[in-house]
Amino acid sequence: AKSKGRNRWCFFSFDLHQKSVARQNLTNDLRQALLNKEFFLQYQPIVDLKTNRLVKFEALIRWQHPTRGLVPPDAFIPVAEESGLISDIGDFVFKQSLLQLAKWRSQFSVDLMMSINISPYQLAAPDLHMVGWFDFLHKQDLPRGSVSLEITENILMHHTEIVSEQLLAFRDHGINVALDDFGTGYSALSYLNRLDIDYIKIDRSFVKDLADGAMEKDLCEAIISMAHKLNLKVIAEGIETTEQANILQSFGCDLGQGYLFAKPLSVEDAEALLASQSIN
Ligand code: C2E
Ligand code: CA
Ligand code: CA
Ligand code: CA
Repeated sequence: AKSKGRNRWCFFSFDLHQKSVARQNLTNDLRQALLNKEFFLQYQPIVDLKTNRLVKFEALIRWQHPTRGLVPPDAFIPVAEESGLISDIGDFVFKQSLLQLAKWRSQFSVDLMMSINISPYQLAAPDLHMVGWFDFLHKQDLPRGSVSLEITENILMHHTEIVSEQLLAFRDHGINVALDDFGTGYSALSYLNRLDIDYIKIDRSFVKDLADGAMEKDLCEAIISMAHKLNLKVIAEGIETTEQANILQSFGCDLGQGYLFAKPLSVEDAEALLASQSIN
């Protein structure tokens, strides 16, 4: 540590070295986590804003590390993407959430849907796992439209032939596509029409500002009516107050997600919710 200040070059290279060591450690831990089955999914309810009823879940990955504790996805997904481990992780998420959906649909006899985050890295460079996804999907005997993949808007920036081919293949197999974090990237509205997309998810930052003033409201209302004109359904994420929910509902927003309704739930808590809903 003493030698750190000797000269700038030395300082920076020491720092960079430490960062790359930390990154390497995380990568090794991720590899180990796959072997030790340290990943699991939580499920956050998405509700119909008119009835407040549960219609789908978003699957969200969690990592229970033996010493680091619970590591949030934002802390490891980027490292997984850089190291290529995202391919194995994404495969786990896809299969696990489909199995869960099929089980819940039959157990609770509900018309439930599931939304799954997919890394743009996987879309841009389809891996060996994905070749088997459609077979796996059809084995679960799920109706068309009951599974959606959430992709972030910035994938459109790097919109290549391969991405649009992938989206078409998903569509062929009855998988819907949701554009995640809508409004945060460089949206080229023309992409919305050109690509086959079924839902947009209005980013949390817009919902957060909703009660602030007329400008913020107008913006959200405009996004929703534009989406509807393009035959897209709208999901608002990060709804935390009834005021936000009411405003969005008055704009005709279709679906909502956020702490107001429920946090991401464990399998047990999700099942308790499903059980309570099926009584009605
Ligand atoms: P995202 O796809 O935008 O997911 C929504 C995030 O917002 C989740 O954080 C969720 O817990 C959080 N959230 C939900 N409702 C509220 C709310 O009312 N208020 C606030 N403040 N936050 C809310 P999480 O689970 O930490 O996930 C973070 C990001 O990590 C996700 O953002 C997604 O980009 C990525 N991610 C999560 N699971 C997966 C996965 O299985 N695969 C991939 N590739 N990425 C994932
Ligand atoms: Ca998402
Ligand atoms: Ca999002
Ligand atoms: Ca996000």
